[in-house]
Amino acid sequence: LSDRILEQAHLPCVTKDNHSISLFINAGLSAEMENTNFTYGEGVGLYRTEVPFMLRERFPSEQEQMVLYRQMLESAPDKPITMRTLDVGGDKPLPYFPISEENPFLGWRGIRLTLDHPEIFLVQIRAMLRANIGLGNLQIMLPMVTSVSEVSESKRLIRQAFHEVNDEIRGSELQLVMPKIGVMLEVPAVLYQIPQLAKKVDFFSVGSNDLTQYLLAVDRNNSRVAGLYDSYHPAVLSALNSIVEQSRRFNIPITVCGEMAGEPGGAILLMAMGYDKLSMNSHNLLKVKWVIRSVTMQHATQLLHDVLECDNPEQVREQVDLYLEIIG
Ligand code: PEP
Ligand code: MG
Repeated sequence: LSDRILEQAHLPCVTKDNHSISLFINAGLSAEMENTNFTYGEGVGLYRTEVPFMLRERFPSEQEQMVLYRQMLESAPDKPITMRTLDVGGDKPLPYFPISEENPFLGWRGIRLTLDHPEIFLVQIRAMLRANIGLGNLQIMLPMVTSVSEVSESKRLIRQAFHEVNDEIRGSELQLVMPKIGVMLEVPAVLYQIPQLAKKVDFFSVGSNDLTQYLLAVDRNNSRVAGLYDSYHPAVLSALNSIVEQSRRFNIPITVCGEMAGEPGGAILLMAMGYDKLSMNSHNLLKVKWVIRSVTMQHATQLLHDVLECDNPEQVREQVDLYLEIIG
């Protein structure tokens, strides 16, 4: 990172005209590995719990998971840590839980899989709740939600896990707290269910990676169509804009945790749409902070306005790049 970016590392993330944006990090491996920029973020916006599952040869036990989650929560006890429940399937296979499907991205993924295997889900939630005892900075997030009923069922299981753990610690000094629960907005169907979902959960987080893939019907890992996968596609921008607009009406906190949030141009557009929480890989955080500190909301809004008129991603990219060049 250049000196001018590092110089601003400890300064607040505000635009030149004083709009604050909160930056969070996406984590997966371990607290240590994210250490470099951890201090600069306001917490973890996405902890991909499937990563430690993928690195093992069998399902980690409740105790093993508890230790892992505890480490993560303890690494920033005064900041929120958003743990996403197991999001396997699709491009994220577990070697010890093989799934063979013709269309894995339209198949058994994320919450679909864990609701069909509540024993996996319950063990994970119990581990998270136990790890959170005495800390209280855990938030739980559900991946690949398509229907409101999936949220109801997940919440029922979370309550069940809560009661189980609570019974176990009864009589001790320990206090169990119910964490905030949120959903990933990454399946296009949720665009039309924001009001219903807002009633059920405490926060939203937009998974722009999957949202792009599903809106454009492009497998994000298929090199043959990779050129069509673009978060600057006008349809994706329009969907992102609509999501934040709708969510604000319900006063529900919303973050973007897809790759787009960690790219300077993407971050500026999201900020202009009204997203005030962005979560990204830690190595992008200081760069994004620098860019946000270099712009005004007024200019970013103008850029967004121009970009929303574009017919194709190339035009969008051209305008965004030009803008980034001007700010240096
Ligand atoms: C996303 O889909 O944007 C996201 C953040 O989740 P993942 O990349 O882990 O699917
Ligand atoms: Mg996703």
